[in-house]
Amino acid sequence: MLPVASLTHLLLVSSVLLLLFVSNLRAEPVVIDTHSARGRITVADRNYEVGEEVLAEAASLVWPANSDSSFVLKFLEGGEEEREAILQLAHLPTDAKTERIARLRAAAEEVYDSMRERMEAAGWEEEDVHRLLIIKDTNCFPFYGRRASGYEEGTSVGADRLALFPRCAKVNHSCRPNVMFSSQTEDGKLRLIAMRRIERGEEVTFSYLGEDGDVMSREERRERMRGKDFLCSCARCEGVDDVRGIRCPACGIIRYPLPETAAKEEEEAGSAGGVVEREKWTACRCEGEGGGDSVRDLVEWEEEAGRRMLQFLGKCRDFDRQLPDPRELEEMVKEAQGKLSPSHFLVAQGQELLAKVWSSYAHRMEKREDFVAPFLLSSRDCRGRAARSFFLAIRVREELEEKWEEGRECSKEETGVNSKRGGEEGGGRREGGERAVFSCTRLAFSAAENLMRSEMKEWREEAEDVTRYVKMMKRRYGEDDEDVRKIERFVNELIV
Ligand SMILES: [Zn+2]
Ligand SMILES: [Zn+2]
Repeated sequence: MLPVASLTHLLLVSSVLLLLFVSNLRAEPVVIDTHSARGRITVADRNYEVGEEVLAEAASLVWPANSDSSFVLKFLEGGEEEREAILQLAHLPTDAKTERIARLRAAAEEVYDSMRERMEAAGWEEEDVHRLLIIKDTNCFPFYGRRASGYEEGTSVGADRLALFPRCAKVNHSCRPNVMFSSQTEDGKLRLIAMRRIERGEEVTFSYLGEDGDVMSREERRERMRGKDFLCSCARCEGVDDVRGIRCPACGIIRYPLPETAAKEEEEAGSAGGVVEREKWTACRCEGEGGGDSVRDLVEWEEEAGRRMLQFLGKCRDFDRQLPDPRELEEMVKEAQGKLSPSHFLVAQGQELLAKVWSSYAHRMEKREDFVAPFLLSSRDCRGRAARSFFLAIRVREELEEKWEEGRECSKEETGVNSKRGGEEGGGRREGGERAVFSCTRLAFSAAENLMRSEMKEWREEAEDVTRYVKMMKRRYGEDDEDVRKIERFVNELIV
């Protein structure tokens, strides 16, 4: 007899197949629900190409941001069907012992007290409000009620309202997702866009962390999601930490921290090699010949560099009083490129931060003539440097995407010196680069924006990079998006 677990599994698999079949009969381009060991999952009913819309959904509830009581009122006023759909989103019990649940309990008390009569008339208890606020906190999106611009997308900039989209909210998280929630359409619908090719039958996933999650270490992703009471067990979280590769100084091979379970097993089996107190690492060619020490040194350097970058980021928060010197960060990124893998999170995040700091300087100079920078560069020079940093940041993500796509499981023989790359300062140019990574479109947008304002004409190669991304921008922001058209006109002129 089959053990119960596998029998259940069989039943689940057959229900997936049945649903796929039914959905084919309807022949509608929709995604469907089913159940598995992961709970409710969303499965693609057909193949989707990059940039294709997988789902568009109208908001079932819209309310002013920062007003829990209007949210609860709107919910009470909503239709039976909408309320039912929203209540179905509950997946955490109200007695869960977490900081967030406690904070929401206090908020629920406040809301309940502020409209006690109304609540009692509806037959509601504090517990009901608490449950509703947990649903809200877990599932709400910034609401624009129109198409969000390239600057606003994926942030809450420009949105003073929040909304619930119950169908989209059921899509599970993954740290390597295949869809993103993109700008709302003119009528305020939320669109779910394929950012990678999706095969029929594949689970549709998105990332709570947005595009930033691509270049976060496992530890950082875990930390960020703790606030949502969520522990991820996706392939990236269960595998080697793919954005924490370090380069063995002796043989040049990139080594990665092993998954926690594998590290534990190795420890139990008593095998050593490249041992660092806390973590175990993938092997390199010269393992055993002082490999342990060099890994430990590098990990210490990595930690120290991470602290320095956080400090730098801290200084950026106080932008009006002082801007940190970007050259300091530039040095650190350069050093990191030498010691770490080309797609290490410190390289990726550092390069992106650098780009933002250069463009902030340029912005400051353009606005205030009396602004004195700690270096002798014009605002246009700063724009140029920002553009260059954005392009280098794009390169890092392209490298990472390529690795994921090829299923190069952070292999033993990886040296971090890609044969297809050349050029200086580790940011070489991709030969015959036709493809573009969908999740880089926003970075490409900023790169183009800075390039335009740098008013420099010797940016032919960069202009070609932008051209490559214009296609992606059109898919993401629409063929007729004004900003994208402006970028397209600009690069066409530059390339002539
Ligand atoms: Zn994950
Ligand atoms: Zn080695």
